[in-house]
Amino acid sequence: MAEGFNQFRADFPILQQTVNGEPLTYLDNAATAQKPNQVISALTDYYRSDNANVHRGVHTLAERATLKYEAARKKVQTFINADESAEVIFTKGATDGLNLVASTYGEENVHEGDEIVISITEHHSNLIPWQQLALRKKATLKYIGLTPNGEIDLDDAARQITDQTKIVAITHASNVMGTITPLKKIGELAHQHGAILVGDGAQAVPHIKVDVQDLDADFYVFSGHKMMAPTGIGVLYGKRQLLEEMPPYQYGGEMIDFVNLFDSTWTQLPWKFEAGTQNIAGAIGLGIAIDYLNTIGMAQVTVHEQQLVDYVLPKLVAIDGVTVFGPHDPSRHTGVIAFNIQGIHPHDVATAFDMDGVAVRAGHHCAQPLMNTLGQVAMVRASFYLYNTQTDADKLLSAIKDTKEFFN
Ligand code: PLP
Repeated sequence: MAEGFNQFRADFPILQQTVNGEPLTYLDNAATAQKPNQVISALTDYYRSDNANVHRGVHTLAERATLKYEAARKKVQTFINADESAEVIFTKGATDGLNLVASTYGEENVHEGDEIVISITEHHSNLIPWQQLALRKKATLKYIGLTPNGEIDLDDAARQITDQTKIVAITHASNVMGTITPLKKIGELAHQHGAILVGDGAQAVPHIKVDVQDLDADFYVFSGHKMMAPTGIGVLYGKRQLLEEMPPYQYGGEMIDFVNLFDSTWTQLPWKFEAGTQNIAGAIGLGIAIDYLNTIGMAQVTVHEQQLVDYVLPKLVAIDGVTVFGPHDPSRHTGVIAFNIQGIHPHDVATAFDMDGVAVRAGHHCAQPLMNTLGQVAMVRASFYLYNTQTDADKLLSAIKDTKEFFN
């Protein structure tokens, strides 16, 4: 099974180390993914050979940097199947993209008495921008609930989305329980009521094939760092017509057409939303990360993670004193699994795992409303990616055994 992917581990220098005397078992990929040599080299090559500001210069370096930056945008367009590259806006990450939409589209289109619908499983990044917009506008924020096994409840979605709803903003995959959302169906509901669909793809784009046109998403965001690109680069996809109608998010260099003393006009898409010097190296690195994923093939990435979950999830569920949150059916999961060990605080679990070289995340995972709904203050989260192997899964299981023995 998953062993075939060992060939990729050699591309990730960070994985070749020991932590506390044990080989590193990196299972915190939902927080951020590691970077292959190809991405690291692209960054150093860029700074060694091409570094210049984009769009403004006519000298050779400026032209080279611009070509690489815009080539990265094209790669993103193809990767998510956007209709045109002008619909791909570079951002700092998913959070930045969601704030952009809330502050521009939301500010213009949400009014007193309107509704914004999200789900109880959202990451704070897809919650607070809408909560604050609703407060500013005296609009109502509504939450779609979960089914008993932790998936977004489509029947409740049909109840919550009404003719008053203007925006439906939903995660495509949960960063806590690894559940995949039927985003297309929720989008159909939104559109039936004249609302728009905002998809949070931070935990989806790195792991499954995403087609924004097939989803019919009006906006869709994701972060580069969770898909092996550098930190500080992300993407907002938006349908051209909506982006055209929206005011700019930030003002300054790069995003203007003409600047007069007392008013100004804005340049065309996508640069209207890219004020100031952007993360050029980050965008180029994202393009290289996409090349890397394309070489493997997204279908293969998904299959690999599925095999690991098929292997480890039933074993986790069967351990006495371990509670796994979300569906116990591996086919309902991405490579993200949340659990707790009875009687041991999640932070103690993560600290004990670290002694075995196993890196996991413990805490509320930026999803406090979900924690409250599930009656937990915190959870342990193990999250797999394409370079993880069955050996990593076994290491997780043995770390649980060691931790239970240590604390009991
Ligand atoms: N949405 C989800 C589902 C996430 O998991 C995350 C990060 O963990 C974000 C949004 C925010 O991403 P970033 O911090 O890269 O902006």
